Amino acid sequence: MPIETEGLADRLERVRHRVADAARAAGRDPSEITTIVVTKFHPASLVRELATLGVRDVGENRAQEAAGKAAELTDLDVRWHFIGQLQTNKAKAVRHFASAVHSVDRPGLVAALDGGDRVLDCFLQLALTDDPGRGGVPIPELPALAERVLAAPGLRLRGVMAVAPLGVEPRRAFATVREASESLRALAPDATDISAGMSGDFGDAIAEGATHLRIGTAITGKRPEHA
Ligand SMILES: *Cc1c(COP(=O)(O)O)cnc(C)c1O
Repeated sequence: MPIETEGLADRLERVRHRVADAARAAGRDPSEITTIVVTKFHPASLVRELATLGVRDVGENRAQEAAGKAAELTDLDVRWHFIGQLQTNKAKAVRHFASAVHSVDRPGLVAALDGGDRVLDCFLQLALTDDPGRGGVPIPELPALAERVLAAPGLRLRGVMAVAPLGVEPRRAFATVREASESLRALAPDATDISAGMSGDFGDAIAEGATHLRIGTAITGKRPEHA
């Protein structure tokens, strides 16, 4: 699928405006919000185009695909955010290229991500449904998982992450995330970040305090077909 640079620039600009408007409507400073452009399934060349448009944060959800693109693009000044479910045996490969992992959801993964020559930022992914297939830590188990990250010298606890479940009003889901973030801060005062909000719901996420948005299709257009 050919990528039209002009269309991409227009979509990026429109999303930037919408993020700034939503921030101001919520009484927040737009500069405290980081937009991560999700480039999964798109070729490395799209990340390169985004970088020329000033994008500094990109998100990927599959370890092997992301590692390949990052290796191809080492000349770019971009931070790679890993946002997908992560198998323990892929943790080392991910920490090699990623600045942050947003999907930390179990003690075994904390142990596998720790250790390395550079500190890795971590977000604890919250389970907002009972569906174990979607990943995330149940909220009652959040404090114990946070303690694990705080005790890991190679990891820095940034905050929480969540995906609004289907069939739930996003604003309500993000209000739950905000409450979990507040309770986490009692334990880890520096873990103030909230990774929440995608193409369809980032306005609601901003209203509930999101600091990191993960936006794909609203900026990249439709994702290419994948297996
Ligand atoms: C794909 C993905 C996104 C981006 O979704 P869009 O609807 O394309 O904005 C955000 N977060 C996660 C975890 C994803 O897998």
